[in-house]
Amino acid sequence: MNKNVFIIGSGFSSLSASCYLAKKGYNVTVIEKNSTLGGRARQFKKDGFTFDMGPSWYWMPDVFERFFNDFDKKRSDFYDLSKLDPAYKVFFGKNDSMSIEDSLQKIKKVFEKEEKGSSIELEKFINEAKNNYDIAVKDMLYKMPGITPLELITKKTVFKVKSFISNIRREVRKGFKSHRLRAILEFPVLFLGAKASNTPAFYSFMNYADFGLGTWMPKNGFYDVVQSMVDLGKSLGVQYMTECNVESILIENKKVEGLIINKEQHFCDIIISGADYAHTESLLDKKFRQYSKDYWSKKTWSPSSLLFYVGFDKKISDVAHHNLFFDTDIDEHSSDIYDEPKWPENPLFYANFTSKTNDKTAPKGYENGFFLIPIATSISDNDQLREKYFDIIITRLEKFTGEELKKHVLFKESFCVKDFEKEYNSYGGNAYGLANTLMQTAFLRPNLRSNKVKNLYFSGQLTVPGPGVPPAIVSGKLVSDLIIKDEKTI
Ligand SMILES: Cc1cc2nc3c(=O)[nH]c(=O)nc-3n(C[C@H](O)[C@H](O)[C@H](O)COP(=O)(O)OP(=O)(O)OC[C@H]3O[C@@H](n4cnc5c(N)ncnc54)[C@H](O)[C@@H]3O)c2cc1C
Repeated sequence: MNKNVFIIGSGFSSLSASCYLAKKGYNVTVIEKNSTLGGRARQFKKDGFTFDMGPSWYWMPDVFERFFNDFDKKRSDFYDLSKLDPAYKVFFGKNDSMSIEDSLQKIKKVFEKEEKGSSIELEKFINEAKNNYDIAVKDMLYKMPGITPLELITKKTVFKVKSFISNIRREVRKGFKSHRLRAILEFPVLFLGAKASNTPAFYSFMNYADFGLGTWMPKNGFYDVVQSMVDLGKSLGVQYMTECNVESILIENKKVEGLIINKEQHFCDIIISGADYAHTESLLDKKFRQYSKDYWSKKTWSPSSLLFYVGFDKKISDVAHHNLFFDTDIDEHSSDIYDEPKWPENPLFYANFTSKTNDKTAPKGYENGFFLIPIATSISDNDQLREKYFDIIITRLEKFTGEELKKHVLFKESFCVKDFEKEYNSYGGNAYGLANTLMQTAFLRPNLRSNKVKNLYFSGQLTVPGPGVPPAIVSGKLVSDLIIKDEKTI
């Protein structure tokens, strides 16, 4: 008889795992506490405006393509994708911005204009980054369930030891003097959740993802990806349950027995949890938890975020689809996140206006704005603070664009630490899991397979490979491969 698998949460890792296991013949049910699927990638609609609530940067298109190929499909069978040009715009002050265009050749010209000789350095840097990408993303990522350190040692990585010891900041500073170019080159690893000075140089493959592969956009926004993975899952027989809160995990003889969902018992053979790891372990009796409170409190967490979803009753000129506001000191802001956690004095922020490239996301003549300020996890969060920071960023946006914006805000909704905790059971309100520092890479990350309970598995951004949508999709494959392998050895 086919085994029943319950998957807790409907983030990308859960959606991915559900498809792989259903294809192998398992009866799979995805159980989500919220009313819609997609985990942190939910959609928010209001008064004719549509917002992706979480991820917005579609990088590493090859990972998405590979996922659909594994089911004898193509990404284009599900959604259209276009490359953004410019990929993004970086603001350093009033009348001081740089646009990162859609090819390395064009970007090299921008670099050369900023700093003589930097285009040659960039070519070298990106060649190395491509080499790392080919090793990491095309090869290793899919073979590293994080079980043993030996996974890291391959014919190709033995020549890369230096790049695990060095860090991104050091490598960037070797080649580039301009603080603008340095900031642009250090930006991609922010997606990995830690400071550039705390991220191994090997992760420069994110720079290749940025400059080499480019920034893409699904036609109707990121939610297209969620919808497509759910459609694929349904065609393979996956069942989806929403508004179903998993309250505890039932164990019998140190083996998974089932779940309590909305106060009712449901039985199954195998459980994967794509929900935050610390939360999942809190659903277990203490003796079945692998990690203590102390373990989680000592981890380097990705930041939390203060988010705003804003409807403007006008078009905003001089902004691109993606915009980074790097007009303040990145080190000062990073220190407020990681070293002495507190609300940032002078925050950097990110904004996207998807209505710049997709007129369906806002009513005609209007603009939708998504704003993100990275902040420390577990800090105080209240309406006054949210208002204060909205005023800070909107004032700066007015200054940069030279346009009045405050009085054109039709509505704004915010999302912050408390919401991450409440909506996603996120530890300390983290936005994207555990950072990819050297000590939180590969086998040093929390296990995909419980070592205390048989048939209990984990996936997602706290496990391998790490934060971000492409890694979450890979994580779903890694955990499914592990389950299939474990089942064969029974
Ligand atoms: C604001 C923001 C911006 C981001 N930007 C980008 C980006 O531009 N590009 C990119 O690649 N990545 C980005 N990320 C990161 C990316 O979204 C995540 O790494 C990825 O989506 C995580 O997927 P996951 O599988 O770990 O699950 P999650 O998305 O964390 O989903 C877990 C799910 O489990 C559910 N759950 C929790 N507890 C229970 C329970 N008891 N019962 C039932 N269900 C439960 C939660 O409701 C949630 O739906 C961003 C994240 C955020 C928050």
